[in-house]
Amino acid sequence: MKIIRSPEQMQRFVLAWRRKGKTIGFVPTMGALHAGHLSLIRRAARENKMVVVSIFVNPAQFGPKEDLNKYPRPFARDKKLCAAAGADVIFYPSPKDMYPPEFQTWVDVEKLSQPMEGQSRPGHFRGVATVVAKLLNIVQPTRAYFGQKDFQQMRVIQRMVDDLNMPFEIVPCPTVREPGGLAMSSRNAYLSTTEKRAAEGISLALRAAAELLKFPFSAASRRALVAASRILRRIPGGRLEYIEARDADTLQPFTRTSRRAVVAVALRLGPARLIDNILVSRKR
Ligand code: AMP
Repeated sequence: MKIIRSPEQMQRFVLAWRRKGKTIGFVPTMGALHAGHLSLIRRAARENKMVVVSIFVNPAQFGPKEDLNKYPRPFARDKKLCAAAGADVIFYPSPKDMYPPEFQTWVDVEKLSQPMEGQSRPGHFRGVATVVAKLLNIVQPTRAYFGQKDFQQMRVIQRMVDDLNMPFEIVPCPTVREPGGLAMSSRNAYLSTTEKRAAEGISLALRAAAELLKFPFSAASRRALVAASRILRRIPGGRLEYIEARDADTLQPFTRTSRRAVVAVALRLGPARLIDNILVSRKR
């Protein structure tokens, strides 16, 4: 497995693969890899000839008061995990190479970026869309793999790729969870064992909401969210930022024709900010 730091070298490298007709699977990450990331890398390896994993803690998607500096960066461990999961190259650029001083071009996916995470983290998706556009242009993959754990992010990326005619297939992948239901996340490393147990209430609440949600969205569905938020508010040390149910395609409030819903949660617990979601489709 090769480690490439320079964007230009990465571009030259994939160009050679493409000339030979090799398919390229790409998994963008911020490192501190866990079983969720590894499921994406393994899938990319099954479905493509070559696999690139990027590890880049993207400063542009962190707010001024967020955890950019303390975000975990266990590169030696990540390297071993990538190799074992089937990566051929780790693209590991420096912030300076990705954002030189003269940098001034941003991608803004307007509507999908607004609700939920967009309200709590202004500018976050602008940073995400911009870095993913850059990474896709550098790696030029056949397919790029994204987790549904970050459902809104995945929708933002799908929209961007369609709107900007980027010729890459975006492959959504299911959320990998701990046995107790907690969605795997690099930020779970901030939690104590007790906090991790308490955080299992998040997936419990989401499953309860999904069970009770009705189409079209009505008073019964609003009661489902109230029931779920009651479970969330009982999490010791937790502070609920939001629980919302929206049309999973537009991320706008439901209409009578909405076909599937996403119920999404953000909750602060000790030093961590945790997000999770569940999809509910109409035909049940
Ligand atoms: P991150 O390193 O947190 O930026 O995540 C990199 C990619 O892994 C994103 O596409 C995430 O949605 C995905 N991912 C993170 N956690 C999980 C998980 N528990 N299950 C599946 N995919 C995940």
